[in-house]
Amino acid sequence: MTDDVVLRVHLRGEADVFALRHSGRSVAAAVGLDASDQTRVATALSEVGRVLLAEPAAVTTLFRATPRALNIELSGVTHRTLADVRERPGPDGLAGAARLVDDLRVVQDATLVTITLVKTLRTPPNPAKVRAELAALRPTTPADELWRQNQDLLTALDEAERSRDAQIRMNEELEETNRGVLALYNELTEELEHTNQGVVALYAELEDRSQLLREANDAKTRFLRHVNHELRAPVNSILGLVRVMTSVADPPFSAEQEHQIELVGRSAADLLRMVNDLLDLAKAEATRIQPSWEPVDLRVLLGQLRAALAPAHSRPDVTLAVADPDPPPSMVSDPLLLTQVLRNLTTNALKYTVRGDVRLDVRTDADTITFVVTDTGIGIAADQQERIFEEFYQVPGALQAQVGGTGLGLALVRRLVTALGGELDLRSAPDDGTTVTVVLPREPQRPTDEVPPASEGPTRIVVVDDDPTFRRVLRSALDALDGDDREIAEVADAREALPVIARVRPHVVFLDLRMPGVSGEEILAGLRADPALATTPVVVVTSEPSWAPSDDPYVTVLSKTSLDVDAVAEAVRRS
Ligand code: ADP
Repeated sequence: MTDDVVLRVHLRGEADVFALRHSGRSVAAAVGLDASDQTRVATALSEVGRVLLAEPAAVTTLFRATPRALNIELSGVTHRTLADVRERPGPDGLAGAARLVDDLRVVQDATLVTITLVKTLRTPPNPAKVRAELAALRPTTPADELWRQNQDLLTALDEAERSRDAQIRMNEELEETNRGVLALYNELTEELEHTNQGVVALYAELEDRSQLLREANDAKTRFLRHVNHELRAPVNSILGLVRVMTSVADPPFSAEQEHQIELVGRSAADLLRMVNDLLDLAKAEATRIQPSWEPVDLRVLLGQLRAALAPAHSRPDVTLAVADPDPPPSMVSDPLLLTQVLRNLTTNALKYTVRGDVRLDVRTDADTITFVVTDTGIGIAADQQERIFEEFYQVPGALQAQVGGTGLGLALVRRLVTALGGELDLRSAPDDGTTVTVVLPREPQRPTDEVPPASEGPTRIVVVDDDPTFRRVLRSALDALDGDDREIAEVADAREALPVIARVRPHVVFLDLRMPGVSGEEILAGLRADPALATTPVVVVTSEPSWAPSDDPYVTVLSKTSLDVDAVAEAVRRS
């Protein structure tokens, strides 16, 4: 006997099935299975025995107690084919027996067949102890086993009755719970309706507030545009006067006074930088930035940048390396805007690096040029990395407070990169440094190149309005017009308006003024700045009675409140 074999039983005829069943139950009990599992094992085993012993054969059964399972192997010689017996239902198959154990395997090699039953054990048995326990058991007779089977049957019947009662009780409980759930559901539906009403009111209020916000933002932009000159001129005068006072050959000032004049000059220079940042951003906001495309000599541009960075590079423990690509890759871009982007990024890198390196590297690919600004500075925490692109946002910290700034640089950089047709990516880790990557096209993309000529085909109309109801109203008014066929493109997201108009080249644009993201005025300014679209007729549809276009012969105004088919027809005809 190998170590895990706890019992070996030889069977010679159908009469031995009782003995097999008894052995199965005894071994199952000895390895620690509970009463119902003992019955399962015994029943499965007697089923297997019955099938195997259906023809006169000698069957050997080995009971193995392994640490994880009780394995029972029955093997014998047969002239039948038993390979499919496992799946076969009914009295000559083992499908039912297979359900009583965890695994039942049938392996047939010519006339030798082995059927293995597996029942998983929760606690590993001790084979020596099991063997001793089995040795102490008295042999059984068929009558004993029949009595045992009857007892099992009675127990099973009792259990079935108990579980039927439990099921009836559970059904009653379920019905009661159901009634409770239904009542709760009704209550919730009512509450939801209430909440819905509140949300609708809140939504209306939000709409009002966002309208106010849009107006405030427009006012800010207008203000900054108008004070452009007024802000810059006096600061420039101060700087000029300081230069005059300090360039006199024999200045009539004491050393202290000279020092004070120098301080005035430095403060004025700081102020001018801030004013310039502010005004650059205001300009970028007020109009669509129109790059002036021209071939860029990157060596010259980077050389000038290197020189311009000298004042910002004041820390002795920081080395600055600006790439000098030789030969420089060819590129068509806006050199002024590109310089502004790179200067802002490298100045930031120098400002926020106390020791280590600041590098500006350039990589050339077939269609793009990549500028990478890397520093070994204080870095930016993950939760701040989106916020730093907001206007006026600065990360709080000692170094940040010391170096100063306006919090406008990155907001402007992001706008400029978009205007140049590029993309910006920022990676940073606190105390490790920051890497900003700007990928720009080597040549500007001009989507207007493949636009259809404006004079052919049906009347093309673009409707730009974020309000779906109003778009529907306008569309029905347009559909009701007589005459030739029309193609109407609707634009809900104002930021998409200019690209769609450039692609469609419409005969007329219906334009709402107040939309999230971009205002109607900005879209109008964008159209007028593009030579291909400058004369596109625009019907401004607004609920602001006082709105009037500034001197634009291609703009007509319709009131949203008194919009009807006739007014739309007249506007289309005039366009
Ligand atoms: P400014 O530098 O004038 O404050 P920016 O818009 O250029 O404004 O930058 C916003 C903020 O982002 C900065 O105040 C600074 O906290 C953080 N920042 C920008 N660049 C870096 C950098 N290279 N390393 C660490 N922090 C940076």
